[in-house]
Amino acid sequence: MAEVLHKVVNEERQGEAFAPFAEDPNTYNKKFYIESYGCQMNFSDSEIVASILQEQGFGATRNFEEASLVLINTCSIREKAEQTVRNRLQTFKSIKDNRPGMLIGVLGCMAERLKAKFLEEEKLVDIVVGPDAYRSLPGLINEAEGGQKTVNVLLSREETYADIAPVRLDSNGVTAFVSIMRGCNNMCTFCVVPFTRGRERSRDAVSIVNECKDLFDRGYREVTLLGQNVDSYHFVNAEGEEITFDKLLELVALVSPLLRVRFSTSHPKDITDDVLHTMAKYDNICEYIHLPVQSGNTRILQQMNRTYTREWYLNKVKRIREIMPDCGLSTDVISGFCSETEEEHQDTLSLMEMCRFDMAYMFSYSERPGTLAARRYEDDVPEDVKKRRLEEIITLQNGHSRESYKNDIGKTFKVLIEGNSKRSDADWCGRNSQNKMVVFPKGSHNFQKGDYANVKINSATSATLIGEIV
Ligand code: SF4
Repeated sequence: MAEVLHKVVNEERQGEAFAPFAEDPNTYNKKFYIESYGCQMNFSDSEIVASILQEQGFGATRNFEEASLVLINTCSIREKAEQTVRNRLQTFKSIKDNRPGMLIGVLGCMAERLKAKFLEEEKLVDIVVGPDAYRSLPGLINEAEGGQKTVNVLLSREETYADIAPVRLDSNGVTAFVSIMRGCNNMCTFCVVPFTRGRERSRDAVSIVNECKDLFDRGYREVTLLGQNVDSYHFVNAEGEEITFDKLLELVALVSPLLRVRFSTSHPKDITDDVLHTMAKYDNICEYIHLPVQSGNTRILQQMNRTYTREWYLNKVKRIREIMPDCGLSTDVISGFCSETEEEHQDTLSLMEMCRFDMAYMFSYSERPGTLAARRYEDDVPEDVKKRRLEEIITLQNGHSRESYKNDIGKTFKVLIEGNSKRSDADWCGRNSQNKMVVFPKGSHNFQKGDYANVKINSATSATLIGEIV
């Protein structure tokens, strides 16, 4: 366990990756260790934090036992995510007991949700910082080094960290996240994000394009534009020109035809035909959309305040496939939301049957303190019913995923090589435009990481395509 440099733990998505920092941490006399939980936005924030700390003379370490500062970037989306963080803090407690000078800080959504209460609940924590207050970290660390417990959970209407160059963590040197906006103005009743990440604000388009150019010059060949709801990106530049998401996509696509562009997450009510046509116009904008539906029943969607109906969502999927017939599609689904009936659950299954998603993130409803749903509705669907409905959703989706991957056998895809496959160093792995992982033998070809290869698919599992270079 001590070998971790920067650990990404996505308990729901079970992702883990490691990568060394470019420079030698031993050139720094102070060392920090950081772990990120939850969504890509949190991961991207940890790269901002690493940059701020580096400015302060902190180097990263693999070994949290030698770190003078240990940070956990937390997620609050479900009770389970918070419990994972509490368990992890106990691991650090045993280290801190032997090294009293070591500081422990919690960042992210759980820090924002609990605020100073975190210090009362978890005595070993020295610093609590919310997602909009990372610039204040150096000052908070100084105070904490002086023995103070410190908190800054102020949310901002302006902060986008646009001027801070992220330090790439866990990087394969090929793909990178680029945050384009922060916060969310939607008020889905089950969601904590508006309370933990504040109001929506879009980052300066020029700083986004410059970051993508810099990444391309440094050998990266794919960027994922990140936001809670990227479709509502809206920036007015110095000339008074309005930059909407379709325009931003085009500006990034024009950096280089060799730079692939992805984005996450979309909202069904805001994704426009302009975005779809821009995706279809540029080969380097990947034909893949993550479009959370959450439920297939209109009454439940209204209870969730998703602001669209079942029919609206189905029409959006139909429109996507009209403009990009091969577009990959994934979604999020919640089972057992407050007052959901068996018939309404069947509506979710039938919508999935009609949409046939390639992949989905599926959860049973977890009531979050402080959300609109927690204030307005009773969490009245019994746990065993939630669980059974979730199993039915997962079983259905696994069937659709298997079919979707099987249908790709015989096709040839342009794959961006991200690195060695996890199975064998003799194989490359990378994704096609539809965001499907492809594994294929290196053979005698002279490809490198960051190159594109045409791969013919010979077989498939429900989550991986297996092929050969052609
Ligand atoms: S769109 Fe809804 S679910 Fe997504 S972050 Fe915003 S409030 Fe949460």
